Amino acid sequence: MVFDYRKIFREIADEITDMNDLGHVADYIPELKHIDPDKFGVHLTDITDQHYDFGDASEKFSIQSIAKVLSLILAFKNEGVSIWNRVGVEPSGSPFNSLVQLEYEKGIPRNPFINAGALVVSDILISYLDDPKKEFISFVRELAQSEDIHYNPQVAESEKATGDRNSALVHFMKSFDNIENDPNEVLDFYFYLCSVEMNCRELSRAFLFLANYGTDPLTDNRILTPSKAKRVNAIMQMCGFYDEAGDFAFKVGLPGKSGVGGGIAAVLPGEYSIAVWSPRLNNRGNSYKAMKFLEKFTTKTNTSIF
Ligand code: GLN
Repeated sequence: MVFDYRKIFREIADEITDMNDLGHVADYIPELKHIDPDKFGVHLTDITDQHYDFGDASEKFSIQSIAKVLSLILAFKNEGVSIWNRVGVEPSGSPFNSLVQLEYEKGIPRNPFINAGALVVSDILISYLDDPKKEFISFVRELAQSEDIHYNPQVAESEKATGDRNSALVHFMKSFDNIENDPNEVLDFYFYLCSVEMNCRELSRAFLFLANYGTDPLTDNRILTPSKAKRVNAIMQMCGFYDEAGDFAFKVGLPGKSGVGGGIAAVLPGEYSIAVWSPRLNNRGNSYKAMKFLEKFTTKTNTSIF
């Protein structure tokens, strides 16, 4: 069915103005608290290269944990199934930065999207890549088909200065031999990849191949096999929103991933990829308005995977 997506975006934006003051921007990373909390942007790219946007869709923001999907894709592409020996594929039901499950799971994080799992994926990439930061950013640029994508060193350094919990996670996993490299090197790479800045257009473009069974529909470049793309989507579906993943599946019904910068990227296989940005977060670290927007969007267009 063909929808006038732009009209629907406007309608929904009007319907959710009563949420404008709900939530707070992430301030545990001091550099992120300078963001204007009222920003709001959406960009949908469909697999035939149609684009629909609304609001601040061209403004860059800190992608934070959305980067965990991009690092997983690069590790899975290069390392293959052996990565599942070091990180699980089960929903955690716990906050993104939780330490508790690691003790009884013997240093194997439940999935690649909680911080512990993303730190292990960072460790895998450091072992595999010659120049991890450079190769990671070129991979993201290739996915988004945009050279104008960069790390924000101030955000990375700000997170490093306050990253005691992430530091605890890496050291704890090292005690179980699930970190191969120097913990400081792992943290440094992890903070850098979380600091990448993209806008909604670039994010929806970067995720488009996941809506097309692993192949970029516009360049024909195969990024992942269909089977690997299915697995990445399955992990987003189950783990993309931490202890709110069930709620996101229940209300939105798309594989997706959030970040504490207020962004969400989500895909509907066979149709489209969509990115939404609104910096005010709920107490699970997910964007209030972006979640509500997507709930209304999939309901009005009847386009969930269920
Ligand atoms: N860089 C952030 C952290 O490690 C990412 C968290 C997030 O976006 N949920 O705390």
